[in-house]
Amino acid sequence: MKELKDLVRPNIWALEPYSCARDEFKGMNAHVFLDANESPYNEPLNRYPDPLQENVKQALAPIKQVRPSQIFLGNGSDEAIDLVYRIFCEPGRDNVVAIAPTYGMYKVCADINNVDYRPVLLDGNFQLQAQKILDATDAHTKVIWLCSPNNPTGNELDKKEMQRILLEFPGIVVIDEAYSDFSSLQPFRHFMDRFPNMIVLNTFSKAWGSASIRLGMAFASEEIIGLFNKVKYPYNVNKLTQDKAMQMLADWMKVDQWVRQIKREREHMMPALSELPICKKVYPSEANFVLVEVTDANAVYNYLIRKGIVVRNRNKVQLCGNCLRITIGTQQENNELLSAMRQFK
Ligand SMILES: *Cc1c(COP(=O)(O)O)cnc(C)c1O
Repeated sequence: MKELKDLVRPNIWALEPYSCARDEFKGMNAHVFLDANESPYNEPLNRYPDPLQENVKQALAPIKQVRPSQIFLGNGSDEAIDLVYRIFCEPGRDNVVAIAPTYGMYKVCADINNVDYRPVLLDGNFQLQAQKILDATDAHTKVIWLCSPNNPTGNELDKKEMQRILLEFPGIVVIDEAYSDFSSLQPFRHFMDRFPNMIVLNTFSKAWGSASIRLGMAFASEEIIGLFNKVKYPYNVNKLTQDKAMQMLADWMKVDQWVRQIKREREHMMPALSELPICKKVYPSEANFVLVEVTDANAVYNYLIRKGIVVRNRNKVQLCGNCLRITIGTQQENNELLSAMRQFK
């Protein structure tokens, strides 16, 4: 890995962060707060929230097996994705390399930040070759985007190939593990200390069943997390979200049950889908969805819509011709989908 200073945009490295009232005074003993121009009324909503979300990080760290200082929390993973560009990529000069197909936000944020986005096509099994990814990089490549289990394909990327990229690429490697709770393989976040150039993304939106509260996580070295904290909006995660996250974290056993139920349903759905006459292929999945190739994705998609069932049509995505991405729902929802698809003519 290069020196962090050589990877970060010079203006960000030199940035003097905004110092908010809650940063300047952190003592516990005060009881009169006249420092932040808050209202004295409407408790507890009148007070600004903890800008660094210390309570949530303390509760989250043992569950994720990382240290609190290795955690960034944001307004969804999408905030972390955008911050990666704003911290590392000089608009109009630097570039990033990513697997394709993958999650669309990496490219949207590249376009917003005027950063050249270089997709490298996966093979027919949706696998990556480290060499092809590394060959697509040059002196201005700051970031490589990997997503495993990948969206929309559902498979885990080859861990050996990913590790080779982490070891050989001198810049930042982001590994989006939004779906790792549904996977049987070890997530890379268990090896934070081995890869100083790695940023792992997680989210409350999938396994934790909390997409509405908008809470995303990035795990990285303390130095990289310091850069995130410097660039983020001071109060980027509101109090309602922090409080709800604390409740969810206390109830992790329930989340564990949800995940096991979804995995059971996935193992039931995969063979059931593959037996359908309109189904040509069910791709392997380590996520809470399956990618399914059907005879005519547009026709099946529209037919399901008429039945009030919405799946994701991925027909136009590279390597995903005639594919639908189907989220695993409750047993009842899944059975309704199966019986509708059985009746398709
Ligand atoms: C759903 C998803 C996320 C979650 O994004 P949030 O902004 O946290 O809701 C992140 N990455 C991938 C690949 C996803 O599919």
